[in-house]
Amino acid sequence: MLHTIDWHGRAAAAVLPNRPFIDGAYVDSLSGETFDCVYPGDGRVLTQVASCNDADVDRAVASARRAFEAGSWSRMAPAERRRILLRFSELILANREELALLETLNVGKPIANAYNGDVVSAASCIAWYAEAIDKVYGEVAATGPDMTTMVVREPLGVVAAVVPWNYPMSMAAWKLGPALATGNSVILKPAEQSPFTALKFGELAIEAGMPPGVLNVVPGLGHIAGRALGLHMDVDCVGFTGSTEVGKYFMQYSGQSNIKRIGLELGGKSPQVVLADCDDLDAAAAGIAAGIFANTGQVCNAGSRLIVDASIRDALLEKIAAQAANYQPGDPLDTATRMGSVVSEEQMSRVLGYIDAGRAEGASALIGGARVRTETGGFFIEPTVFEGVRNDMTIAREEIFGPVLSAITVNGFDEAMAVANDTIYGLSGAVWTGSVKNAHRAAKAIRAGVVWVNCFDRGSMAVPFGGFKQSGFGRDKSLHAMDKYTDLKAMWFAH
Ligand code: NAP
Ligand code: MG
Repeated sequence: MLHTIDWHGRAAAAVLPNRPFIDGAYVDSLSGETFDCVYPGDGRVLTQVASCNDADVDRAVASARRAFEAGSWSRMAPAERRRILLRFSELILANREELALLETLNVGKPIANAYNGDVVSAASCIAWYAEAIDKVYGEVAATGPDMTTMVVREPLGVVAAVVPWNYPMSMAAWKLGPALATGNSVILKPAEQSPFTALKFGELAIEAGMPPGVLNVVPGLGHIAGRALGLHMDVDCVGFTGSTEVGKYFMQYSGQSNIKRIGLELGGKSPQVVLADCDDLDAAAAGIAAGIFANTGQVCNAGSRLIVDASIRDALLEKIAAQAANYQPGDPLDTATRMGSVVSEEQMSRVLGYIDAGRAEGASALIGGARVRTETGGFFIEPTVFEGVRNDMTIAREEIFGPVLSAITVNGFDEAMAVANDTIYGLSGAVWTGSVKNAHRAAKAIRAGVVWVNCFDRGSMAVPFGGFKQSGFGRDKSLHAMDKYTDLKAMWFAH
């Protein structure tokens, strides 16, 4: 159980997977290169992890292709794939302590969040697609009496899943669930900061009964292993989650190689709009604080721009500052900690750089703004709220991916909506209001893939997630995600 475990003791004894998982087993990399994996809670190197190169990627793709062509998974009866995927989900839960620990060691998130959140959500996602796959049907089209015309969905073949480090297990599961359930073979490329749980997934899939080669995992650097997957002539699809910048590379890789299909879940700069008629500022403040400080603000849909009506600004900011006290950074391995470190020294410098830019451009930090717990050697930043922000400042335009909220003051509904939509991103947005009419008007006006009204960051496997504009295209979660990993085939049978 979470609270009875000596997590520091476990961490000291942890077995850290560090070799690629290809064709059903851990193998030595062909590259022979490695990179350091650092625990961001104290800055120490945990282990060296294989840095896969083009040759390793070729080997993983060949394995995935062999498995796909053999049909041992791709042509398996859906009910049978369902059984194996359910077992995979059960094994994720059965290994909950180890997976939670590996995740915290990789990314510095609080062990309680990894244990109660990330592991459970990844397992639920796999189970959801397992349960769905033998309950979806094709179509018979109304083509006339001399024809029978069927429209069916077929797997694409070899899918590469290239994922980020903020929720390594969940982001992987959002790709693996629909891609595997529909019969594809997958090569998972975790971010260099977070290879452990991805590798462990490869092992658990085999234990669950998945044929070798159906799930391969290649740890490595984005510009080497990620690029090799993007440019590979025998990869049929890339499911990518990460920054808009790298998402653009994948569009280019596709055009430079085989026009492979690309799904992009990218960054955001999501507005939290609080209208003058908001009738529960306490709920709004709690939702806004959670929406920017949870997971240390390293959330694609973080509500990083607060757009607040002048009439309630001071009252709301005071409440948000009080809420921020609940998110003081602490030891990630302590079960009481609610906010951990940021993922890396590089990310810490980036976030601190944005804080400097905010000050330089004329905003002022109402709370926070500094690195803390320096004596630990870890990468901790306090919850930070900037006021006096204009929407053209760097901290209002660029994704900070840290615990930094930028508060912009507006007057009235129309200005609030104009500022909310003045961004290159469109992943999500929220509005806090006591008016039914304004709730509906705002939900329609905000140009984003997800809009929350009087709540924030609610999610369900039953609901699609993804963005408009430069936040990408295609959707994770829900039955819609299966469209990304399948192609439509029309079959005409003349009578
Ligand atoms: P990132 O730098 O874009 O990296 C994402 C993945 O792409 C990693 O596996 C990375 O590998 C790889 N990569 C990096 N450079 C590459 C290149 N030149 N060619 C091919 N692959 C490359 O993003 P991140 O820093 O890991 O994660 C933060 C970003 O993810 C934020 O922008 C956030 O908004 C976004 N995100 C979006 C969602 C969503 O659902 N919309 C969810 C979570 C996160 P290496 O790390 O090994 O270089
Ligand atoms: Mg990276």
